[in-house]
Amino acid sequence: MAQFAVIGLGRFGLSASIELMRLGNTVIGIDSNEKLVNGAADSLTLAAIGDATDEQTLRELNIGQCDSVLVAIGEGLEASILCVLLLKSMGIEDIWVKATSQPHHTILSKLGVSRIIHPEEEMGVRVAQSFNYPMVNQYMPLGLGHYIVEIVIQENCNKLTINKLLGKAVTEINPVLIRRRQQLIKKVDIDFILETNDSLVLAGALSALKGIAPEFL
Ligand code: ADP
Repeated sequence: MAQFAVIGLGRFGLSASIELMRLGNTVIGIDSNEKLVNGAADSLTLAAIGDATDEQTLRELNIGQCDSVLVAIGEGLEASILCVLLLKSMGIEDIWVKATSQPHHTILSKLGVSRIIHPEEEMGVRVAQSFNYPMVNQYMPLGLGHYIVEIVIQENCNKLTINKLLGKAVTEINPVLIRRRQQLIKKVDIDFILETNDSLVLAGALSALKGIAPEFL
């Protein structure tokens, strides 16, 4: 169990906080807006009203003890940067920051934070990917052009083997696992017979994954 702090409990910060709680972590949420803090109070380990650009406030809340901090202050460029500087001076190494503009991104990358997030742009790319490949339920970039994707088997692929589904791409794609209803099947070979609604997780280069016949996706 890790200890997180989320600064800024707007839509982005709050949904990240709630998911971190759901994953079993401790989460301290801070926002200068009393109404938002009151709304989050029951969902987080601690929700506090405070100005995250004030060092005293951060110290009183023991933010220095957190493993990771997410700075989810929206439009306030100055507040976001001041807060990051304070967190760095407190020795926090894992700092993730939501950026809202290119200048904001440039300053954050010069400060050296762990990750700069552009929620709208990143979500836009994901939505486009899903539009393009509607059966791709989830995907995770691994770098070097490789991805892990989860595809949900449609009726037209019922009783098809993985070998048949992947076609000529079969030699370049690794089937990782299958989820069939409540069951996880971890040893998957290419003769495995798929059923409608199976979730099939595959790993491979994007070029190979694109080789799967479009009528199957
Ligand atoms: P979203 O798009 O995620 O809703 P917002 O810009 O509305 O983004 O949310 C940012 C949150 O950060 C707001 O709730 C705001 O009150 C909070 N915030 C802004 N500046 C500070 C600050 N200095 N200290 C604490 N919270 C702040």
